[in-house]
Amino acid sequence: MEYAVHHVRRPGLTRDLPYGPEDLLWVANTATLVYGERDAVLVDTYATVEQNKALVDWVRSFGRRLTHVFVTHPHGDHLFGIGQVVDAFPGVRAVATKETVAGSVAQVGPEAVGSFWEKLFPGQIPQERPVPETLDDDVIELEGHRLEAIGAGFTDTAGSAVMWVPDLRLLVAGDVAYNDTHQYMAESSTETRAHWAATADRLRELDPVAVVAGHKNPDRADDPAILAETAAYLRDFNDLDARTTTAEELYAAMLDRYPRRANPGSLWGGAKKAKSVS
Ligand SMILES: [Zn+2]
Repeated sequence: MEYAVHHVRRPGLTRDLPYGPEDLLWVANTATLVYGERDAVLVDTYATVEQNKALVDWVRSFGRRLTHVFVTHPHGDHLFGIGQVVDAFPGVRAVATKETVAGSVAQVGPEAVGSFWEKLFPGQIPQERPVPETLDDDVIELEGHRLEAIGAGFTDTAGSAVMWVPDLRLLVAGDVAYNDTHQYMAESSTETRAHWAATADRLRELDPVAVVAGHKNPDRADDPAILAETAAYLRDFNDLDARTTTAEELYAAMLDRYPRRANPGSLWGGAKKAKSVS
């Protein structure tokens, strides 16, 4: 059994940032293929038709039978491709934890798509957006190896999960871990950020040799140190939130500490949320 990581780069979602490093106004999404001699399991998909076409072509290039696509959390940039994947690979099951399935219903609906995703990616979001089915027992079997879904609660959104592959000591972390990328905090609160940091710390106890983040700097390795980095970023944000008054001050203080992470727009979105600026 082996794994491989695919990525796409796309524009960030928060685009009204006051200032920031111009060369870092992008974010990369990842999808991970875990594969054996004959079969394979895909973790996560992408937002747009074009991105998911590239993903389908990449999965095809491995020449394995895709049995499952697992979605880590109910955000469109991880979820919207499952219709294309199901169409491309007959017999594949699109699955997620019960909590991710619950959150997916609203995310694929006309309101979330019309008021958010279509505005950011006009005409590019798949028309057909199925909801994954609940993964029984939170386990996928791949040629005798166990792939274990572990619920993570509220991280960058509610109903998040990770995929743990014990035989590879591989953690496919979805958005529970970020790799050299500003974290999405526009849905979070002081309390959920503390929970998220504790969750990232708890996952270190699995002692993974590789941790694949849902959003990574493609030039960076899938280093397990990103779990601690993710937790530290959240604690820094909460700390600096308590010591600043405006969204601009909080943004500036965090950017000073993390000047070269990709996607500063995500930080700006989080700072606005923390200071209740719309
Ligand atoms: Zn994401």
